[in-house]
Amino acid sequence: AVSEEADDENDLVPRAPIVTVMGHVDHGKTSLLDHIRNTNVIAGEAGGITQHIGAYNVTLADGRKITFLDTPGHEAFTAMRARGAQVTDIAIIIIAADDSVMPTTKEAIAHAQAANVPMVFAINKIDKPGANPDKIREDLANMNLLVEEWGGKYQCQEISAKKGVGVDELLEKVLLEAEMLDLKANPNRRAAGSIIESSLDKGRGYVSTVLVSNGTLKVGDIVLAGTNYGRIKAMFNERNQRMEKAGPSEPAIILGLNGAPTAGDAFHVMETEQEAREIASKREQLQREQGLRTQTR
Ligand code: GDP
Repeated sequence: AVSEEADDENDLVPRAPIVTVMGHVDHGKTSLLDHIRNTNVIAGEAGGITQHIGAYNVTLADGRKITFLDTPGHEAFTAMRARGAQVTDIAIIIIAADDSVMPTTKEAIAHAQAANVPMVFAINKIDKPGANPDKIREDLANMNLLVEEWGGKYQCQEISAKKGVGVDELLEKVLLEAEMLDLKANPNRRAAGSIIESSLDKGRGYVSTVLVSNGTLKVGDIVLAGTNYGRIKAMFNERNQRMEKAGPSEPAIILGLNGAPTAGDAFHVMETEQEAREIASKREQLQREQGLRTQTR
């Protein structure tokens, strides 16, 4: 493993919460993320998000920021946790008010609980004639999850993702939860974080979306992730604008790696390319040996 020195308390500054939305298919995850993406952006940023990159940053009117992870299904939890990455700070569990807590919802709740990630419940589709939010609260209570309005500890918000009702209030609750977590990081060190997704682009070569958890990532940095490494040639945000650096909780698309590391792989910035290459090839050798061992078993 790549060693990391501890941060001095004085170097730590607040960082934005990293939030994942999870729920049963059709309960409104996409609608909620789309609504947030399209409305909660600072002036001049609006309308420009063109590509899906697995993570993006929103800035509320008062300047506070939230980073949303937008990976399919429970990938953010399962794939990433399996690789030891704890990427999410807070989970929004979305449940349609004209339906029930479904098996997938229960799975999402179980994932969040296993990862010790606080949950905020969003009861969606309250604009629908058949909506019965109390039924959802009851379903949750039957799982030992008592919402705040019923005297429990779980924050819960009725929303209509489609009409945009209650979404600001939901984000307030997320930020309140974040405050209690007292999230901090040190921007003044070499960056470390997680790979969110990777692909091979015809024109640009290997492209990875990364999320910085600590430090500041810069163009020119030498990145090591899994068995891949390389010097960052260019960085972009989700609006395809060039970035020179990305600080804690900021996602970035990076160009320049020699391959496509797996979602959930940790990345570290190394001092020299030689050091990165050596560790990458050691890891590759280890993987080969492990592969051989499983084959002969
Ligand atoms: P996902 O599968 O969880 O991502 O769900 P989608 O966001 O794709 O929503 C599934 C369907 O429910 C779509 O037809 C949406 O238009 C609809 N939908 C989502 N949110 C709402 C809402 O608040 N009210 C109503 N009436 N329909 C909604």
